[in-house]
Amino acid sequence: MQSRFNLDPQTAATEGAHERAADGELGMLRDIFRLLPSGVTVQDEQGHFLLVNDAAAAQLGITAAAPSHSKELDHRRETGIEVLRSGRPAIVEESVGHGQLKQVLHTTHRPVRIADRDLLLSSSSDISELKAVEDQLFRSAYYDELTSLPTRRVIEHRANSLLRGEAQASFALAFLDIDNFKYINDYYGHGAGDTLLIEVAKRLGLDLRDSDMLSRISGDEFLLLLNPIQSAQEVAEYIHFTLHRLKAPFFIDGSEIFASTSIGVSLYPEHGRSYEQLRQNADIAMYRVKSDGKGAALFFDASMEREAQARMQVEQSLRLAILEKRFCCAFQAKVDIRTQDIKGIEALVRLRDDEGVIQAPGTFINLAVELGLIDELTHLVLAEIVRSIDLINDTFGPNTSISMNVAAKQAGNPEFMRSLAQALEATGYPQRFMIEVTEDAFVAKSHFQSEILPIFRKLGVGISIDDFGIGYSSLSALADITADEIKIDRSFITDIHKRPRSQGILRAIESLSEALGMTVIAEGIESFEELAYLQAATKIRYAQGYYFSRPVFLEELKPVAQILSESRVGSANRPREQARPGMSRGERYRR
Ligand code: C2E
Ligand code: MG
Ligand code: MG
Repeated sequence: MQSRFNLDPQTAATEGAHERAADGELGMLRDIFRLLPSGVTVQDEQGHFLLVNDAAAAQLGITAAAPSHSKELDHRRETGIEVLRSGRPAIVEESVGHGQLKQVLHTTHRPVRIADRDLLLSSSSDISELKAVEDQLFRSAYYDELTSLPTRRVIEHRANSLLRGEAQASFALAFLDIDNFKYINDYYGHGAGDTLLIEVAKRLGLDLRDSDMLSRISGDEFLLLLNPIQSAQEVAEYIHFTLHRLKAPFFIDGSEIFASTSIGVSLYPEHGRSYEQLRQNADIAMYRVKSDGKGAALFFDASMEREAQARMQVEQSLRLAILEKRFCCAFQAKVDIRTQDIKGIEALVRLRDDEGVIQAPGTFINLAVELGLIDELTHLVLAEIVRSIDLINDTFGPNTSISMNVAAKQAGNPEFMRSLAQALEATGYPQRFMIEVTEDAFVAKSHFQSEILPIFRKLGVGISIDDFGIGYSSLSALADITADEIKIDRSFITDIHKRPRSQGILRAIESLSEALGMTVIAEGIESFEELAYLQAATKIRYAQGYYFSRPVFLEELKPVAQILSESRVGSANRPREQARPGMSRGERYRR
């Protein structure tokens, strides 16, 4: 790059070595000036450039071909004149060049007086990289990286400025949540899940007005601000149309993915006067859609709020119960239907609520999973089993297997499963345990089969597929599953003697399991007829059900005198889940 040295050195014409030394020094200063990494210029009052070093020449687009013409140069001339006129220094950020050569300069202009002339001394450093990092930080704070949609902060800010504004026009806030997104993610993989989010965002954004805003506020949740709105009817129609549009299949990585969405809507001012309240109410309406069966939209109403409060209370009491360890286990026998022996037992957790009433897991397991409390609960169940091991051995025999249930979500979480494996190993008798997981855990692409199962295998812990037949997998998926036991869901067993279709399914599961070396166990036998059918028409060996025994609390099986001699604390709260007086311990399970 050329340099322009219009230095008028005004050197005195002296002679000798002294002069030559001064010349040498000056030459060196010129070179240093020319090569300074910052761009430096000196301008006069008319904006003319007296000095321009190499870096500045490059920044201002001065080339050998067009030494004095560039947009940057013209701009700099004008700025120079202005700053000199003001007599005050100035610091500016300027953007120069374009394309690959684009730079952001941080420039300091300083008026100086040298040799009776008013000059402007300017120096610029290139802060392009710094700016890029700053922009990136800004973008990640305000825009979602995956979908490029504004984040929750931005939509909150927009809603708040509408609420503060003069106009006070009505607007709507819609809370959208993709149904079963976790399943889609697990089944098709995270890459497909990400693409789905991008595609959903595109469909949602298709015909928004400039004054509307769509934001991704977390995972699979979107918030849509419709502003302004004329009527609730207009919003309902738009949302209905949106729902419809989202129901069309998405084609991702060669798969046709169907993704319905649940939407809750709140209106300003009817449903709240602050952003927080409007968002929360839209969320409450969305939650209602989810519990009503998903894939629909609802406007918020006051009855939902009461419901949400009741739910909050349940949540609170569950948290408290876990904190206070108000759990116990009921045990149900797995019976050999050919010999009537007890092959093993299944631990089924029970919660003692605030009033001391025992609750079955149906009322709290899903909530515990949702609230992230289930892992702790599972460890509490194991601890209770360990505490009761002598009683278990006395009651059911020292060689019975002990089954524990693990939710599919836990099964897909390597961290939890490792902690469970460790705890099982620490009992000293891991080979007596069996883990029951639903088939969803196997189908999900969550590495359960490949990474987690081997850890349990190594410890000798058995794996059982619970509730088989009602989950997402198909019969053919069985072939890929490596488990020790398969539990056929109660829905197939109920009235099995009267249902030829279920009989056919049972036969298919039975022969497939036999080929794969898995033990089959029938869940939920309640009647003699069901048992008689299994015994006569199938080779199924094991069963579980009320016909043999309801889940029981171990204390109930102890002689009454022994219970009375123990501390009364706690035992008063034990319910009589199975009160069949008059049966001996052994009889309870043998008929
Ligand atoms: P599950 O593992 O399939 O357990 C069988 C359920 O069916 C138990 O309900 C049992 O009491 C019930 N049952 C057994 N025999 C019969 C019968 O003949 N007829 C009928 N109608 N029901 C029968 P429970 O104890 O209410 O447990 C429900 C579910 O809660 C369990 O289903 C299991 O998925 C889950 N669960 C229980 N304990 C735990 C636990 O510690 N952790 C986790 N993650 N889930 C648990
Ligand atoms: Mg089970
Ligand atoms: Mg089951």
